[in-house]
Amino acid sequence: MTYFRSNIDAMAGYVPGEQPQGGQFIKLNTNENPYPASPAVRQAIEETSRRGLQKYPDPMAGEFRRRAAEIFGVQPDWILCGNGSDDVLTIATRAFVGQGHLLRLPYPSYVLYKTLARIQGARSQEIPFRADWSLGEEFGASGDDLRLVLLPNPNSPSGTLVPPEQVLELAQRLPCPLLVDEAYVDFADTNCLELVARCEKILVSRSLSKSYALAGLRFGFVVAQPQIIAGLTKVKDSYNCDALSIAAATAAVDDQKWLAENRSKILATRRRLVAGMRELGFTTVDSQANFTWNTHSGQPVRPLYERLKQDRILVRYMDYPGWGDGLRISVGTDQQIDACLERLGAIV
Ligand SMILES: *Cc1c(COP(=O)(O)O)cnc(C)c1O
Repeated sequence: MTYFRSNIDAMAGYVPGEQPQGGQFIKLNTNENPYPASPAVRQAIEETSRRGLQKYPDPMAGEFRRRAAEIFGVQPDWILCGNGSDDVLTIATRAFVGQGHLLRLPYPSYVLYKTLARIQGARSQEIPFRADWSLGEEFGASGDDLRLVLLPNPNSPSGTLVPPEQVLELAQRLPCPLLVDEAYVDFADTNCLELVARCEKILVSRSLSKSYALAGLRFGFVVAQPQIIAGLTKVKDSYNCDALSIAAATAAVDDQKWLAENRSKILATRRRLVAGMRELGFTTVDSQANFTWNTHSGQPVRPLYERLKQDRILVRYMDYPGWGDGLRISVGTDQQIDACLERLGAIV
């Protein structure tokens, strides 16, 4: 006897990366920022908290929308906020994809997308990246009942980026919306934001979890044309962002100087990580994100992950059937990366 819809019974459920509670880990497994957020964030939370939380928050997070609109060069009604960008992805999938429909994603990429399709009772179709992590024409092809295409850009686990011109070409050929998940884009050389005004089918999502060092806060948003935002708004929970997170997120995006400084620190450490891994004999993909994807042709990498974990250094081991396995290592502080490289050097 089961009370669940058959697709819920049949699915496994998404398993997030390990979040050890307590224990002194050097944590390089879920791409968090190693530095604390802008001090303005804490101030905003304290002020909001002092004013009290007895009233409901603004359902549309207007304060954030107005400030973000100025910073990102759009109008406020082009922005919808979410409880983390995962919430935005859930809202989009619920709005566009129904029972039996098709959701497309690249492979290997963010496994959560498939889970979102399953919850809807929809099918998912994975289009493999080419060996050099570029995308083929088929990613923009039409498909039977294709309703949504999700593209992490930069991609995880590779850290690679599909150039904006190609994203636009793909979107123009598709019969459905293309959501470009830009969770890591603040660490990249370019982004797809300006494509939104040029193509109704393009949605761009952003997260405050990585580049703004606020994974614990839960705030993300999507930028799309106003008629798309209006439709998505019908699907979201009324109060999907709370008063503290709205105030904190507004303060965070307001401090673009903090973002630029943090970005240059992360990029400098990323160069050190890439060079160090290559020196150890790994094949390390050039990264546009705050992590690197590392494979090794000479030895299995799973035991390396396990040995590192024994030494309280946590990286992400990932195995993609038909593609291969590797270690995804987040860019921590210089000190954390040096410790990781040193341990790996002793093991390999
Ligand atoms: C981390 C991540 C997200 C989720 O970000 P949140 O804002 O923390 O929900 C979305 N997409 C990708 C590809 C990610 O790696």
